[in-house]
Amino acid sequence: MCGIVGYLGSKEAYPILIKGLKRLEYRGYDSAGIALVNEKINLYKTKGKVSNLETFVESKNIAGTTGIAHTRWATHGEPNDVNAHPHFSDSKELAMIHNGIIENYDVLKEELMKVGVEFKSNTDTEVLIQLIEYIMKVEKVDLVNAVQLAISQVVGAYAIVVVSKKHPDMLIAARNGSPLVIGIGEDEFYLASDPSPIVEYTRNVVFVDDEEIAILKLGEELQIRTIKNQVKTPFVEQLELNLGDLEKSGFKHFMIKEIFEQPKSIRDSIRGRVNVGIDNISMAGIIDFKERFLQAKRIIFIAAGTSWHASLVGEYLFEELARIPVEVEYASEFRYRNPIINESDVVIAVSQSGETADTLAAIKLAKQKGALIYSICNVVGSSIARAADAGSYTHAGPEIGVASTKAFTSQVTVLVLMALLLGRKKGTISETRFQVLLNELNNIPSKVEQTLQLNDQIKEISKIFTYARNFLYLGRGFNFPVALEGALKLKEISYIHAEGYPAAEMKHGPIALIDKKMPVVVITPTSAIYNKVVSNIQEIKTRKGKVIAIVSKGDKLVSKLADYTFEIPETEEVLTPLLSVIPLQLLSYYIADMRDCEIDQPRNLAKSVTVE
Ligand code: GLU
Repeated sequence: MCGIVGYLGSKEAYPILIKGLKRLEYRGYDSAGIALVNEKINLYKTKGKVSNLETFVESKNIAGTTGIAHTRWATHGEPNDVNAHPHFSDSKELAMIHNGIIENYDVLKEELMKVGVEFKSNTDTEVLIQLIEYIMKVEKVDLVNAVQLAISQVVGAYAIVVVSKKHPDMLIAARNGSPLVIGIGEDEFYLASDPSPIVEYTRNVVFVDDEEIAILKLGEELQIRTIKNQVKTPFVEQLELNLGDLEKSGFKHFMIKEIFEQPKSIRDSIRGRVNVGIDNISMAGIIDFKERFLQAKRIIFIAAGTSWHASLVGEYLFEELARIPVEVEYASEFRYRNPIINESDVVIAVSQSGETADTLAAIKLAKQKGALIYSICNVVGSSIARAADAGSYTHAGPEIGVASTKAFTSQVTVLVLMALLLGRKKGTISETRFQVLLNELNNIPSKVEQTLQLNDQIKEISKIFTYARNFLYLGRGFNFPVALEGALKLKEISYIHAEGYPAAEMKHGPIALIDKKMPVVVITPTSAIYNKVVSNIQEIKTRKGKVIAIVSKGDKLVSKLADYTFEIPETEEVLTPLLSVIPLQLLSYYIADMRDCEIDQPRNLAKSVTVE
């Protein structure tokens, strides 16, 4: 993961770099570091968050108009000062930041050690910068050539930026598998893992592609070449990003801000796709590949984490509405088990960041085998969106809290639209049903607003569960994935162990855990299987478990049985996940807040998982 930032121009680099690191801190916060190029390269790095780095550099020389900076999510080498990036080459003439993993680092390291190169850190990253310097020395080539030669020896994923003491007016960057975007200002360049550190200075950006090297020189146009030295014309795009979306705007944490943004983010996911009055859905990506979708023998969802849970909701939606068989795969498992894929398959990759390394690799594999690849991503221009044949953006706006909230509901919204569109085109749902569901989807943002009014009630009840050691989450049908998502939210930010289960599976194991100390969250809005879940609640109460129930407004039965009941507005069963997940997000947020947890940056986690 890791966040990288670079600046080259006439402004002081430090404030730009440090602000950029703060914007990218969601990507990792094991350590932070900065290198500023003057007569020599001044390098400052320290364990922990970006704020530690700020304290560390107080009273140090932070002058310089060329610099690079890094916030780390450690893969190789423990998170300490020495392993923090940037890393120097042996002579300290070069320094580099890196996002990714150099998989063959040990072979390269051994060879370099044999020829006398001394290593300071345990990282895979240092191997690459040492290799670049060694190649310059031995092959007598310039820095750009040395970077080209070095990365052609590297196996793995990287986005790197190199600075050189001898060339303070130059940055060299390269990418393969990890994101990298260049901002082009007036006689200045910005570089970052995503556009958020760049947007307030320029909206003109170039997304660097895999196997490309970017050469940024003051006073010259941006140059892009491939590893094989083929010259490319940079494709300059205009950023559409609202600066306000990158601030907490008075909320205590990004997570709670993003929970409350959901009426808007869901509306934004629908906007432009549903023509009010015309009662139609338009999704260009589907229309362009209409026949492939309509003829699809199977849809395979590929995702990880919360996106995997949204994909599970997708399974229920597509099978119910479009009658297409669906499989939902963990990207990391799918790609390593020689999966059977053929040309009649449609693969849908779901990823908030659009950079999830496992998902990206899995769709590349599926593409080779001839499947149609469709992406559902939030970040515009992200690697997965670009690798896909077509796709739909969720338009949820930047999600900064590491625990995903609004991205989940936006993904589900896009999946509802896709399933409805396909169901109508295939004739698997009646026109009346299509209109009813579409109309109800349009009502969902205001029903989310009503659901958010549970906030104070949930905050109050969260106090009771602050000290729980375990939680069980149960749901059935469309709300089984919501149970998984609720459990994941709690685990991620409060560090309380939680498990999600299909409600009826409880009797095959987890019921053994139930006693008077075990809180069980049961998600049971009105549905065809409501009565079955009521029986499951009876079983929990018989064993003295504490039941927190999510029910539809006006529910009589469950509220009599449950210890605590939260009512969500009545809606169509297929749309219930968009409402039932909201109280679970709030519950995990308040429990974590009362436990004084680092909500936006939970330990060991990072948001954009660009390592395998
Ligand atoms: N592998 C590098 C390290 O551990 C970079 C990690 C990353 O990008 O997540 O320092």
